[in-house]
Amino acid sequence: MPRRPDTPDEAAFRAEVRAWLGARAELRDPSRPHRLETEEQHMARCRAWQRTRFEGGYAAITWPSRYGGRDGTAVQELIYREEESRFDVSTGFLYASIALLGPALLMHGTEEQRERVIPPMLRGDVVWCQLFSEPDAGSDLARLATRAERDGDELVVNGQKVWTTGAQFSDRGFLLARTDPDAKKHAGISFMLVDMHDPGVDVRPLPTASREHQFNEVFFTDVRVHIDDVVGGIGSGWTVARTTLANESVMIGTGGPQGEGVADIARMARDRDRLDDPLLLQDLAEAWIDERVVALFGERMTEATLAGRRPDLDGSVMKVFWSDTRHRRMELGARVLGAEALLDAEDAHAHGAWQQRLLSFPLGSIGGGTVEVHRNGIGERVLGLPREPRADRDMTFREVQAHDAKLTGARD
Ligand SMILES: Cc1cc2nc3c(=O)[nH]c(=O)nc-3n(C[C@H](O)[C@H](O)[C@H](O)COP(=O)(O)OP(=O)(O)OC[C@H]3O[C@@H](n4cnc5c(N)ncnc54)[C@H](O)[C@@H]3O)c2cc1C
Repeated sequence: MPRRPDTPDEAAFRAEVRAWLGARAELRDPSRPHRLETEEQHMARCRAWQRTRFEGGYAAITWPSRYGGRDGTAVQELIYREEESRFDVSTGFLYASIALLGPALLMHGTEEQRERVIPPMLRGDVVWCQLFSEPDAGSDLARLATRAERDGDELVVNGQKVWTTGAQFSDRGFLLARTDPDAKKHAGISFMLVDMHDPGVDVRPLPTASREHQFNEVFFTDVRVHIDDVVGGIGSGWTVARTTLANESVMIGTGGPQGEGVADIARMARDRDRLDDPLLLQDLAEAWIDERVVALFGERMTEATLAGRRPDLDGSVMKVFWSDTRHRRMELGARVLGAEALLDAEDAHAHGAWQQRLLSFPLGSIGGGTVEVHRNGIGERVLGLPREPRADRDMTFREVQAHDAKLTGARD
């Protein structure tokens, strides 16, 4: 559903995009069952579509053309996304890694880094993963302990990351590591680009309840990173990470509900003769309103971000609202399907896609920062509520470790 009537220029761009997509992709058909494919097949399909978009000049419409973008406007990007959402195509997790690393490089990278990294990333030739979270550093990311020690023109990385989406398919990763344990915990961190094919990188799968292999643990043993691959300068990684994390919260919820939207649930209810249930109709109407609010808010935020404005706490508001309303929508879908929602087989509804959704939707409230942590941010920075007490706020990382060891000792 378009935002407002297009201007003549926008209408011409929409027509161009529609014709381009129509010549290269099939329209999405909601009655077609969920596609059965392996993760490798899915990834190959996403890479192929990423390349097609790049060749058409639609891989990053607002980015400078010298890096493979189009020098276009935020509205053109929104028009492209609206049109593409009608087609049966996806760039999968490539979309996420590009949306996270690209803006960080555009804002903090050197010219050499942008020219070297962005075009192959937009072409889908080099796939990237995000190496931030660690077993003891998730919500409190600045506690990360992976070390990167200087040796001449190189940094030597040792440590462990966790929950790394798509690491098994990645050629390179953007990593946060501690370069100075004696600096304040946020200040001793650097943001660097690592080679995932290095023999010192060990990627191990972390299967989820839905049996998907989305996450990994990644272990680093003496992996060397040239200082040319440090983004934003040594010790300035937290600033770069904040750009990445702000873009992550904007990205969440702006993709559109494919195959799990209220129209899909209404269709399932109609097919099962459930439309005479007034409570169900009421909940469908409410879910549709929620879906519309998420879509409009997402458009507004995307347009602001693409135009170069910082999303700030709008990303947190979006994350919490998107996550809560998606939860309610998943419950509604399960209510309509009943026991069928629990099936996972070729002859189950949508090839068992709802079982997968029910098992994996809680991840949405965790990835990109948990809803609790986003609520803290809204409470402290929007409503002016008291800040959380933090014993380690002004400590160096070494002092944080000593403090933790004392607490652990006291417990034992
Ligand atoms: C789908 C998905 C994809 C992901 N992909 C990646 C990736 O590619 N790369 C990567 O680096 N990481 C990734 N992550 C990891 C993600 O960033 C972390 O899971 C997240 O930051 C939370 O950290 P944690 O899991 O360590 O939980 P913890 O921080 O240990 O939190 C545990 C619980 O405590 C609560 N809690 C913690 N602190 C507070 C507080 N101050 N106030 C109130 N409650 C609090 C949390 O809300 C949560 O309920 C992904 C996660 C998901 C779910």
